[in-house]
Amino acid sequence: MIVADILGEKGGEVITVSPDDSALSLARTLAKWRIGAVLVRNADGKIVGIVSERDLIHALATDAAAILHRKVLDLMTGEVVTCQSLDSLQSVMEKMTHGRFRHLPVIDDGELRGIVSIGDVVKLRIAEQLAEADALKAYIASG
Ligand code: AMP
Repeated sequence: MIVADILGEKGGEVITVSPDDSALSLARTLAKWRIGAVLVRNADGKIVGIVSERDLIHALATDAAAILHRKVLDLMTGEVVTCQSLDSLQSVMEKMTHGRFRHLPVIDDGELRGIVSIGDVVKLRIAEQLAEADALKAYIASG
C-alpha cells in the first residue's frame, strides 16, 4: 500500500489558511472541518507553512490572554516536511515518528495532491492486516 491508496479513498481536498488569519479563525476552521492541521498559503498560493491544533494548544498554554491577538504566521511551522504519492505507508510512518507530527502534505513535482494524517495511515494499515489474516486463514483452511 502506498500514499496514493489513501488519497484514492479520502480524496485530495486540502484546507488552507492564510498567514494573516487570526488564531481564532484558525480554530474555527479546524473545528468546522473536524481536522487537526491545515496548510498555510500566502497570497501567491505558495505553501509557507503548516499549523495544527497542537500549535494552538501551545500558544494557549504559553500566554492564553494573547492568543486572540496572534496570527497564523506566529503559530505555524515554516519548514514543512512532505511526502509523495508513490511513497510507502512505512516511509510515511517513519517520517511522522521521526518528526513527531501527525500530518504530511503530499506533493508530486511541486503539485499539491492532498494531505495524509496518522489516522488515515492507521486505518489503511488495519485494513491491510485484516486482509492478510483472511488470506492466511483461507490458505490454511484450504490445505
Ligand atoms: P501534529 O502532530 O501534526 O498536530 O503537529 C505537531 C507539530 O508539528 C506542530 O507544531 C505542527 O505545526 C508541526 N507539523 C505538523 N505537520 C508537519 C509537517 N508535515 N512538517 C513540519 N511540521 C509539521
